[in-house]
Amino acid sequence: MAGARGRASLGRCWLGGKGGGWAGGSPACGIISSLCFMPAGLKRWLSSAAPAPRVCVVGSGPAGFYTAQHILKLAATGTASSWVWKSLEEAFSGYRILQSSPPASHFPQQQHHGGAQVDIYEKLPVPFGLVRFGVAPDHPEVKNVTNSFTQTARSERCAYYGNVTVGRDVTVPELQQAYHAVVLSYGAEDNRVLGIPGENLPGVLSARAFVGWYNGLPENRHLKPDLSCETALILGHGNVALDIARILLAPLPLLRKTDITAGSLAALACSKVKRVWLVGRRGPLQVAFTIKELREMINLPGTRPVLSPADFTGLENAIKDAPRPRKRLTELMIKTALEKPVEKPVEVQAAAAREWGLKFQRSPQEVLPSADGTRVRAVRMALTRLEGSGDSAKAIPTGDVEDLECGLVLSSIGYRSLPLDPAVPFDAQRGVIPNTSGRVEGVPGLYCSGWVKRGPTGVIITTMNDSFDTAQSVLEDLQVGTLDVSSSREGFGAVESILRSRGVRPVSFSDWEKIDAAEVARGRAAGKPREKIVDPQEMLQLVGH
Ligand code: FAD
Repeated sequence: MAGARGRASLGRCWLGGKGGGWAGGSPACGIISSLCFMPAGLKRWLSSAAPAPRVCVVGSGPAGFYTAQHILKLAATGTASSWVWKSLEEAFSGYRILQSSPPASHFPQQQHHGGAQVDIYEKLPVPFGLVRFGVAPDHPEVKNVTNSFTQTARSERCAYYGNVTVGRDVTVPELQQAYHAVVLSYGAEDNRVLGIPGENLPGVLSARAFVGWYNGLPENRHLKPDLSCETALILGHGNVALDIARILLAPLPLLRKTDITAGSLAALACSKVKRVWLVGRRGPLQVAFTIKELREMINLPGTRPVLSPADFTGLENAIKDAPRPRKRLTELMIKTALEKPVEKPVEVQAAAAREWGLKFQRSPQEVLPSADGTRVRAVRMALTRLEGSGDSAKAIPTGDVEDLECGLVLSSIGYRSLPLDPAVPFDAQRGVIPNTSGRVEGVPGLYCSGWVKRGPTGVIITTMNDSFDTAQSVLEDLQVGTLDVSSSREGFGAVESILRSRGVRPVSFSDWEKIDAAEVARGRAAGKPREKIVDPQEMLQLVGH
């Protein structure tokens, strides 16, 4: 009844058109009078008792969760009409008349009908994507974002279905049949390759696999990197490269207190690696890592930075007008390379058993094998000169080469998204789903967010903003009627029977919470925040599958 009343009063104010705006009439009528801006599709929808929208999100990393969060936040509980109210409050907030909109409590009371429903599908039994499997174990504060994701997943209008690989267990067209909107947030599951001879030799690994190994990604649990050499070479100058260098060189007591897997900790305990070179094709002004990670590396106990002063001389002038973050980052490198260390006493540095350094203007040409051909011995580098300046500077080979001896090569030149389903357009060149503000080109009702939308760069905050942008597109399309919600969709009801027919049993969020509790309990016994379970079968057994 309340819902019917709400709709009736809504209709009166709207049709009457004499609400008088903010100055005169009631706040609710003021808003309603402003809705003469409202598109025809939305008016039609408001006057109908349209079913609440059902949205599905593919992938439970930051992009999936932030997209879900934003849709749920804006599409607050209520009837279709009150759902629109909430959405409009934000979506039209740029309009003059709504800029002084009252708090949500001033909006007409509606019957509680449940609002939009968001279902999140995830291929692994466990959620959170790279927050669990990418973020370094010694950066626990970054993982706090999972607290807000957990709140979202516990919302009665959100459901989590882990252990479902979209594109294999259920297709994207099947999801489109079951939902009003489908958002693809499945990240970047592959890595870019070097494309040079010797790349497949034992001892050459992708950063993605190595990170997955120490972070417990099930597919990398059997990696067994050979850490019996003294020198490792990391190809790449980004934060992932620095994460790996830090994990390779960090004192064991530091790592022991983290959620690094027991298997990788044991392997690192026996590691002979004591020197790590991070090699890049371009110069110090083009490095992609950030100052916080560099500083952490410089201050890593028991290690010393080895930066060649020649790489940095004269750079002070070049950075005079550089943006502040680039300037500060370069200043820190210059200081480390040219000045006597002030942050660590000289004798402590000299005594450091381990060292690391940055090598610039070297482009890998070939991975050279050991004499018996069984593993890597060195990487042949083409020396380069820079053409152009700043971010757009290009590395041009000079014709000179240099062999860098090493026993382990970690290629950290970027992650890469893969196509998911033949029904989804994919730009293989850029490794992204072609889209405009998250709307997949040529496929109404299909959206994307996160790394698969804009490419595998950027931190969690970047992914959050980008996911909010996609969520906003979904809401706008609902509002203008581009997305047809006039007929109800079954959502998981329809998908469940498909999955059952294919023998797939999804894992719920409360199932994950059982896995989580077991991991935390195992970790506590070992004095660490959690001991990750790395075998998906064990996870499934734990929840009775
Ligand atoms: P992802 O996090 O990769 O999530 C994608 C999800 O989709 C995964 O859970 C995956 O299993 C799932 N999925 C894939 N395929 C399917 C399918 N077919 N069906 C169903 N589900 C599927 N940012 C920071 O701010 N701080 C850091 O310290 C930090 N460290 C990082 C360390 C590393 C090694 C990396 C690679 C990145 C790091 N980032 C960090 C960046 C951050 O992780 C990304 O910005 C963010 O995770 C991207 O989110 P996403 O949801 O697009 O992708």
